[in-house]
Amino acid sequence: MTAHYQAHGDVAVITLDNPPVNGLGLATRKALAAAMQQAQADAAIRAIVITGAGKAFSGGADIKEFGSPKALQEPNLHSVIALVENSAKPVVAALHTVVMGGGLELALGCHYRIAAPGTSVALPEVKIGLLPGAGGTQRLPRVLGVEPALNMIVSGEAVQSDMLAMVPKQKLFDAMATSAATLADEALALARKVADVRPLPRVRDLPCRHPQGAAYFQFARNMVKGMSKNFPAPARCVDAVEAATTKKFDEGMAYERDALIELMWTSESRSLRHLFLAERAASKIPDVDADTAQRPIRKVAVIGAGTMGGGIAMNFLNAGIPVQMLEMKQEALDRGLATMRGNYEAQVKKGKLKQDKLDQRMALLSTTLAYEDLGDADLVIEAVFEDIGVKQTVFEALDRVMKPGAILASNTSTLDLNRIASFTARRQDVVGLHFFSPANVMKLLEVVRGEKTAKDVLATVMAMAKKIRKTAVVSGVCDGFIGNRMIEQYARQAGFLLDEGCTPQQVDKAMEKFGMAMGPFRMGDLAGNDIGWAIRKRRAVERASMKYSKTADLLCERGRFGQKTGAGWYDYQAGKRDALPSAEVLAMIEEHRQSLGITARKIGDEEIVQRLVFSLVNEAAHIVQEGIASRASDIDIVYLYGYGFPPHRGGPMRYADELGLFNVVQAMQRFASNPLDDAAFWTPAPLLAQLAADGKTFN
Ligand code: NAD
Repeated sequence: MTAHYQAHGDVAVITLDNPPVNGLGLATRKALAAAMQQAQADAAIRAIVITGAGKAFSGGADIKEFGSPKALQEPNLHSVIALVENSAKPVVAALHTVVMGGGLELALGCHYRIAAPGTSVALPEVKIGLLPGAGGTQRLPRVLGVEPALNMIVSGEAVQSDMLAMVPKQKLFDAMATSAATLADEALALARKVADVRPLPRVRDLPCRHPQGAAYFQFARNMVKGMSKNFPAPARCVDAVEAATTKKFDEGMAYERDALIELMWTSESRSLRHLFLAERAASKIPDVDADTAQRPIRKVAVIGAGTMGGGIAMNFLNAGIPVQMLEMKQEALDRGLATMRGNYEAQVKKGKLKQDKLDQRMALLSTTLAYEDLGDADLVIEAVFEDIGVKQTVFEALDRVMKPGAILASNTSTLDLNRIASFTARRQDVVGLHFFSPANVMKLLEVVRGEKTAKDVLATVMAMAKKIRKTAVVSGVCDGFIGNRMIEQYARQAGFLLDEGCTPQQVDKAMEKFGMAMGPFRMGDLAGNDIGWAIRKRRAVERASMKYSKTADLLCERGRFGQKTGAGWYDYQAGKRDALPSAEVLAMIEEHRQSLGITARKIGDEEIVQRLVFSLVNEAAHIVQEGIASRASDIDIVYLYGYGFPPHRGGPMRYADELGLFNVVQAMQRFASNPLDDAAFWTPAPLLAQLAADGKTFN
């Protein structure tokens, strides 16, 4: 049973019990409705308390039911809330830990609410492109006031019960419990106190007004327009809350319902829901059980205090895990530490971090020049130069000094992890932890699974990723792993577009209009064009037969490495990051075109976007088919969190699904007929071809 009924003298306590967050799926709704009816039928019961077992009152609807008939199946959430609201006996909601979405809407259907301090309260539906659909937009403004309620609904952010209790004239909580431990007793006492109150107070009967009326809502609409240009949901939230102030309760409810149904079908909401589920799926490895025993990670060592090493170390310091850093020279350590401290100080200046937190974090950091000092670390992450010889030196040393069972990780972007593992006599303990730059900011972590990587090592690093607030995706071993292997094809297409007639700004603009955080050329300037140059040189032999535009090499030969040299695909003014069109680069591209005998043609935004995005899709289809990625949705998560793919498009694979794979394949055939492109690349990957032929999708 996912809800329990227990009589405590004259009060019935109904406890939602559907781990992990007491989601209100069909079974739980049925159990709750049955318990409500039992309480009504028992003459000895005078009042009812609803609460949640474990770590939540309720986290809300079961997202897996969205769009499925189960969500509407009776008793649906509306019916359950109506049952509670129309109860002949008073119903008290005893709220603790987490009260979100449908959970809060259920509480708002109760006659009284008592909350424990520190309870997180939210209507987060907007984060998946929806609005609260079980009365949240109509009832919350009635108890909290229009403005605080609208802020919560439009942002989806959680607010602590203690803060909400301070909102002037709020009726959300009738009482605050002294502590979570005493909540149950205090809820029982409240239930007994109100047992004879009639008529029962109902939120729906409260007035709902804003003194400025329409003018306020116009202001609110303008605000959300600026903040959420690609998403329709926030504006609809404003409409629905306005309806609460202008319509009768039942009409407002009907308005909310229509708006919800409309949003449910939007591509934006479907993309966000896809990403929500994709992120959960990514944390599961098909052949590694969820209950696999993990190795403890109490101390971490980082080799190399450069760009990546420093950022990687900060993740662990932020999570309260001690870090020891090793470098070859004291100066390198000093430089690395100064950069880390500088990053923290910048956060303090912006008011994002308190000085004492900075001190605590830096106190967890120690340094050394001697491998012998690292021996007792549970996890060591190597972030030295991207050179197999240097990696060999480091891993041989680690093999010598690290305690048995320590996890040995490499942050390599492109090198063969199996080869790196072979430098040790403990290949089962070696794993790739591919952080993205800046490593203390970017959410993505590619976990690279070597041929011999042990399952408990994988289970450990997946759990560790959560602790340091990263979203981990597992990749098999191949050059570039998931993300960078795809970006190679994307960059190649971007190069061909220059050869054929585009300017860097035209390509970037088209991609940014599509929604990418940054177009390919601005991204190159930020990351450093020399990185790609070095990789191309290393790959020169194995990629000898592959076609590339020479423009990127020509750019690097001029020393235009990007922002760090003040010049790349664009010009940069000292101390500024604005990308200014460069006459030199445009001339360089035109000269190159002439040397190939190409006359520039005009290329539209649609072709630019399709060639770049479909190049990702086709390479990804190979990656999924080869088993490098466990599932297509993992690709979407990699691109969302590692490469700035727009969330409203749901990731490259979901975008392709949305367009229809048949259409994607047709477009590829067109691109293949372009003599300046790479026809061989555009042969659809077998998985893509098959799905398209069967009328199926990746997801
Ligand atoms: P970096 O040049 O900024 O830093 C490397 C550091 O390693 C330097 O401080 C150097 O002194 C130190 N080092 C070199 N050899 C050493 C040794 N034998 N022992 C101890 N320290 C040594 O390089 P980075 O950009 O931080 O890259 C490090 C690794 O991370 C590379 O494998 C790279 O491919 C990978 N990576 C880089 C990025 C990125 O965007 N920069 C992103 C993901 C992964």
